[in-house]
Amino acid sequence: MIPRKALALGAVLVAVSIGTASAQEPQPNDLLLATLWTQRSVEFKGNALTVYALAKIRLDQALADKNWTAAPVEQKGDYQNLPPAIVLDVDETVLDNSDYQKKLAVTGERFKDATWNAWIEERRATPLPGAEGFITTVLDGLHGQVILVTNRKQSQCAATEDNLRTVHVRYDRILCDRAGNGDKNPRFSAVIEGEPGVTPALNILIWVGDNIQDFPSLNQKATGDFADFGSHYFALPNPLYGSWQGVPPR
Ligand SMILES: [Mg+2]
Repeated sequence: MIPRKALALGAVLVAVSIGTASAQEPQPNDLLLATLWTQRSVEFKGNALTVYALAKIRLDQALADKNWTAAPVEQKGDYQNLPPAIVLDVDETVLDNSDYQKKLAVTGERFKDATWNAWIEERRATPLPGAEGFITTVLDGLHGQVILVTNRKQSQCAATEDNLRTVHVRYDRILCDRAGNGDKNPRFSAVIEGEPGVTPALNILIWVGDNIQDFPSLNQKATGDFADFGSHYFALPNPLYGSWQGVPPR
């Protein structure tokens, strides 16, 4: 449970910082507190850096282990000799959109496709701590491929690529949500299998995301020991939004 007093304080802090403080006390707001934690806390930065630092260590281990794959079910045949690759989500994994969430928190508006699309068109998302360094290691140090799989729509892909370029994030391919159904699994399969004459089949060594659906065949109903997390799967903290919001409280 989040103390209401703390939430109200958070609202005041943000209101002051953006110059909209008024005599009327702002209403408590969960999204506002989550945005404050994401934007202001050193703990968020530390979490993100920790995730990417461990992913780097695992990559070194992966390259020393010929049989390493992060897709043991999906990867077929002689996968050991395929080019190595990592797959990353974009939003709240590589790009930080917390300024969009702050706007929602301060105005009280709900998420809408139109305002989200306008934010993407602004191309103002910033890089997540650790992301660019990790990607550089993969591309330059390990000569691996970097594949971005995002649920941004195909119509938003060009602006997304502009934004990534602006913050110096490089990659080999980006797959936006051409089908418009939010299901990344067909795109994961396409990345693994390649396309003859267009793109090679790849051996995926690491997956990075902020949502359980950024990992193959997983969703909020996932059970088990989650042993892949910290070895082959790496999850960034995202208290702002996600598929977790549809899960009933315990
Ligand atoms: Mg994401």
